[in-house]
Amino acid sequence: MRIGHRPERDKRITTHVALVSRAFGADRIIVDKEDLKLKQTVERVTEKFGGSFKIEFYPYRDQIKKFKGIKVHLTMYGIPMEEKINEIRKSENIMIIVGAEKVPREIYEMADYNISVKNQPHSEVSALAIFLEHLGRQKELRGYLRIIPQERGKKVLRIPDKEECLSLLNKYGADEKLISHSIMVSKVALEIGKGCGADEKILEAGALLHDIGKTVTGGISHGAEGHSILLKEGYDEMIARFCSTHVGAGLLKKTAKKFKLPDLDYIPRSLEEKIVCHADTLLKGSKVVTLDEIIKDYEIKGLSSEIPRLKRLDDQLKKKCGYRIEELLKLNE
Ligand code: SAM
Repeated sequence: MRIGHRPERDKRITTHVALVSRAFGADRIIVDKEDLKLKQTVERVTEKFGGSFKIEFYPYRDQIKKFKGIKVHLTMYGIPMEEKINEIRKSENIMIIVGAEKVPREIYEMADYNISVKNQPHSEVSALAIFLEHLGRQKELRGYLRIIPQERGKKVLRIPDKEECLSLLNKYGADEKLISHSIMVSKVALEIGKGCGADEKILEAGALLHDIGKTVTGGISHGAEGHSILLKEGYDEMIARFCSTHVGAGLLKKTAKKFKLPDLDYIPRSLEEKIVCHADTLLKGSKVVTLDEIIKDYEIKGLSSEIPRLKRLDDQLKKKCGYRIEELLKLNE
């Protein structure tokens, strides 16, 4: 609960209060004065960088009164945070109140706790960040833009959303069969990934684009073709790898050599790569089938040597993600 916001003067600082709230684990911020520009800025960050953080505008009195949970007012005059944080942590629902200029007297009475982050004057942004960090409710935020931490410089991974993936498939002339297969791979992959915290946005993009190389060739080199298309289109290697690593249960170096494929890594390594690869394996066209059926096909096609690796990947994902084929088969309905 941000009190005393003055749109003309506090634009930057209230934006920072909101961004700190989001980055350090809050679900939403309420600001006591409507500010549409502020709303736009905060929503844009959430859209790009993920999460479901909300910004709302209401006068503070009613909001504090009707809040069901613990209300913590941050003020330099309060009891040191260290003395109370364990007690406060026990509560599931916590409203944190920060002021701007002078905080109305009644806030001290309405709050369950008046808490200081050092008994020295500083700022609502720092007080809030330090308090939330101690509370330890941070959650993973996953948007379409991801910062890849670097010792020096900047690296931002951009993940294409569903619409962009489908329009790229269209651009390369994917037919209806390929598109519905790709959509089904994404559904199966998301279902498998549910149980192991796999990254949904990466899974969806990887699954939708894994077969883009089939617009060039139906042969074993379609993985490498797709990899090259995505790099040419300016996507990161992390996205392009879904093409090269989904063929079979991953091609060994010597197999790739035998088929004269470009010198790439064809083994699915990340959790998401393994899931997309296996989701693709479990599909015949756009229909989910059992692993036994797939194994029979491999035997008929003379690919018996690949079966142990196929089974290993299945075991690994069953253990890690706890997926059940019965749930996947329901996706056919
Ligand atoms: N003098 C103002 C008052 O009446 O409390 C404080 C103004 S201060 C710039 C704005 C906000 O920062 C405060 O309302 C409080 O929420 C927060 N704040 C500043 N120093 C703090 C501290 N040491 N501990 C906790 N919160 C603090």
